[in-house]
Amino acid sequence: MKNLILFGPPGAGKGTQSAKVKEMYNLIHLSTGDLLRSEIAAGTDLGLKAKEIMARGKLVSDEIVIGMIEKKLKEHKDTAGFIFDGFPRTVAQAEALDQLLEAHKTAISGLIALEVGESELTARILARGKTSGRPDDQNEALIKTRIREYEQKTAPVANHYKKQHKYKTVEGVGSIEDIFEKLCAAIDTLD
Ligand code: AMP
Repeated sequence: MKNLILFGPPGAGKGTQSAKVKEMYNLIHLSTGDLLRSEIAAGTDLGLKAKEIMARGKLVSDEIVIGMIEKKLKEHKDTAGFIFDGFPRTVAQAEALDQLLEAHKTAISGLIALEVGESELTARILARGKTSGRPDDQNEALIKTRIREYEQKTAPVANHYKKQHKYKTVEGVGSIEDIFEKLCAAIDTLD
C-alpha cells in the first residue's frame, strides 16, 4: 500500500494537491477538516463539539480525529492506499496513526511537506474564504491563530517521520500543475 501524508500549514495547498494525487495513484483521500465539516453540517454531537473549537482556530481533541480515522481505515480495507490531509496534526496523532496502520499490516510510506511562506498562506486563505464559505478562512486574526497552532503542535510531526527516514519536502509555490509534478516525483521515490 502507498500511504502518504500531505503535510504543511493551513493554505499550503494540501486539499488541492490531495485531490490530484488521489486520482493519479488511486488512493482514498482522508481530510480530517472535511470529515469534521461534514459532522458539523449533519448536526451530530461530535460536530457540535468540533464547531466551537474550529471557530476559534484551535485543534480539536486527538481522541475525536483519531476515532474518525480509525473508522475510515476499517471502511476501506481493500484500497491501494490512503492520502492523509490535515492529519496527523500532533505527535500523539502520528503515534496513533502508526499503530492503527500497523494493526492493518501496513505503514506510512512517506510524509511530504509543502513549503509556503506565511504572507502567501494568509493571502491564499483570505482569497479562499471569499468562495469557500468557511468562517475560519475569513478573519486574519483567526488565520494567524491557526498558523501558530501549526507551528507549536503540528510542525513536530515532521520530526517524528524524519526519524523514520520518511520525510520529504516540495516547494509549494508556483502553478498547481508544477507543484503537482514535483509532488509526483517525490512520491515516486517512495517504496
Ligand atoms: P483544515 O480543513 O485541515 O484546515 O482544518 C480546519 C480545522 O479543523 C482546524 O483548524 C482544526 O480546528 C480542525 N482539524 C482538522 N483536522 C484536525 C486534526 N487532525 N486535529 C485537530 N484538529 C483538526
